[in-house]
Order: sequence, then C-alpha cells, then structure tokens
Amino acid sequence: MVTITIDEKEYEAEEDMTVLQAARANGLRIPTLCYHPSLKPSGSCRLCVVEVPGRSSGRQTTMLSCILKVKNGMEVKTESKAVNRARTRAFKNLLQMAPQAKSIIAMANSFGIDPGPPPDGCIRCRLCVRVCKEIVGPGALRMEKRDGVNYAVPIEGLCIGCGTCANICPTKVILVEDRENTRTIKIRDEVIGKHPLERCEGCGKLYATPKFLDHIHKRTSSHTEMKSPHNYCSTCAKLFSDRVKSFSKRVQQ
Ligand code: SF4
Repeated sequence: MVTITIDEKEYEAEEDMTVLQAARANGLRIPTLCYHPSLKPSGSCRLCVVEVPGRSSGRQTTMLSCILKVKNGMEVKTESKAVNRARTRAFKNLLQMAPQAKSIIAMANSFGIDPGPPPDGCIRCRLCVRVCKEIVGPGALRMEKRDGVNYAVPIEGLCIGCGTCANICPTKVILVEDRENTRTIKIRDEVIGKHPLERCEGCGKLYATPKFLDHIHKRTSSHTEMKSPHNYCSTCAKLFSDRVKSFSKRVQQ
C-alpha cells in the first residue's frame, strides 16, 4: 500500500492503482468518458486531468489520472486553475466532435464548466453580412455578440430574399428554402426573411421575390441602357434577348 494526498487529504491506495482508480475508490469525482474499468486506459478524452508535481522539475503540471500510477507521498489536486483550464479545453474539443451530445454538456456543467455555445457551422467570415450590405444593398445581416460569442444575425424586415448570402456562405449554414409559393432564408434556426415568390411570365417557374424585383428595378431604372422592366427568369430573359437580337439582325439584312 502507498499513501497519497488528494486535495489535501491523505488516502491509502494499492501500489498498482492509477490516480483515477485511487480517487474513485475513495468516492472522489473525476470526469471521464473514454475510461472503462474492464479496458486498458487510453487517455483519449483527456477529461481526467489532475495537477501533480512534475517528476523531474517538481513544478506543478497537469497529467491524465487514468494513466498516472500512484506513488507513495504523491500530492494530487483534482481542482485547481490549471485543472479547470485543461478540463474546459478537453470538454470543448469533445463538443466540437459531438456538439449534439447532451451528456457531455451535462457532465461539464456538473463540474462547474461552461462549455460555451455548441458550434453552429458559421466560421465568422462575415461574407454574408458584407455581400448583403456592399453588393446587394439592404444590409439585412449584422454581427451580434451573444454570451460573449459573435453571431451573424438578421435585422428584421430588411431582407429582400435574393439568396446571395446563402450562395456566398462557404459552409452553407445559410439556407434558402423555396416551398410552394414562399421563399424562406434561414441561418441556424433564425429566419432572415420570408417572402412570396413571383412566377416568370415566360415559363411560369417561381423565380424571384417581389421585393428583390422592385429593388433591382429601382437600382437599374436610371441606367441609360435600361430596357423596360420585365418579369422573366434569367433563362427566359436570355432566350428572349437572343431572339430579339437575331430578329433585328434579319431585319437589317
Ligand atoms: S437573402 Fe436577404 S440577407 Fe441574404 S443577401 Fe439577400 S437581402 Fe441580404
């Protein structure tokens, strides 16, 4: 038997025990996910960190208690700033791989750790915010800090339903859903805009929102080359313009 100190209290432990086994044998809580008493420890979840004096330097260091063997006179801390930092990092890494795992979030909370919001697929490049403001015009998206984290969020009532933000999004976290006569633009579970869809006068396909068509008309009406406004989708518009060109050519010949 050896004597070890865990959180300033002395315990007896068998010589071949790990620190985790010794702690648990004495009813002390250390979080683990990859540990199973019937299997050899792997140290892969990295949750079971404890603080001990380093072997050669004697300086405090964090180590994985599932693979660290007990030693007579060893002093172990299961709670400290360094343990908390390492444990938080380990919880966050695990939640990056399994953001839907409620059990991991609950375990983190039970150890007083806030693992932060789950990853939402957005890489905060702000391309959606920039394209909506700088190219399209309405400025219907902005960045907002929620619980210390930046999110791209909609500004109510400004979206015109063009879908440019969804097209430019590199991770495809912004979605355009055209269902029946309605277009919905969404980021995460937040609606950016919900719009009726207009039919193309050429082929009858639902193709654009009235707000978008109005916006384009206003933006282009002062242009010298502007033709009369039409309600054709891009395919029909091209088809008709090609036909008009070939007709004018024939007339000129
Ligand atoms: S769909 Fe709405 S939010 Fe997205 S770029 Fe167009 S106007 Fe902006």
